[in-house]
Amino acid sequence: MELKSLRRYKNERDFRIYDEVIRLTDKPVIAVATHIHWDHIGGHRFFPDFYAHGAELNWLNGEFPLTMEQIKGMVVDRCDLPEGYDVSRYEFFQGNPTRVLKDNDVIDIGDRLVQIVHTPGHSPGHMCFWEKERGYLFTGDLVYKHTLFAFFPSTDPEAYLNSLKRVSALPVKHVFPAHHTLDIQPEILGRMRDAFRQLKAEDKLHHGTGTFDYGDWAVWL
Ligand SMILES: [Zn+2]
Ligand SMILES: [Zn+2]
Repeated sequence: MELKSLRRYKNERDFRIYDEVIRLTDKPVIAVATHIHWDHIGGHRFFPDFYAHGAELNWLNGEFPLTMEQIKGMVVDRCDLPEGYDVSRYEFFQGNPTRVLKDNDVIDIGDRLVQIVHTPGHSPGHMCFWEKERGYLFTGDLVYKHTLFAFFPSTDPEAYLNSLKRVSALPVKHVFPAHHTLDIQPEILGRMRDAFRQLKAEDKLHHGTGTFDYGDWAVWL
């Protein structure tokens, strides 16, 4: 995660995303994460109004497939944590969403409509958010530069390919990923789709086949 700008903060209480969000608007706020992973829902407890995809409700109710110790290990290993962050205080959010989302649902936020595109692969209930009017695609962890994760037992490489086929068919003008750089162009969607297709053709699109590097991105299967 790109949290370098938050490094000045000394403890979790000082960098609640909620505090930043309410500074931006006086309108009601709904939190919608692309998926229920430790690095995306850390601030959910501050948003009583949050939505989630139906396929990951069990992950919000005691059935996440990793232990708390494994999750804390991931937080330490994979996140660029602010100085002084105390991982022992990390809690994996649990709760019931105020709305359960499914494919093609639309979230109307007033002058903008956001369509849910169910894109399983990275996780079973992963969603991309599609703003047709602007050509904005928020890709979460499905698409970003650097290494895509498709090796966890809860990932599904075949579903990943189908999700890439779907998002690469959209008339995307801007890709907004959840991790790494925002210097990413829509053409990467087609390149990722083609690479996954090729892996499938070579019978490598399944867990345990290794990491495949394509220059500005890679996939770990
Ligand atoms: Zn994730
Ligand atoms: Zn993530």
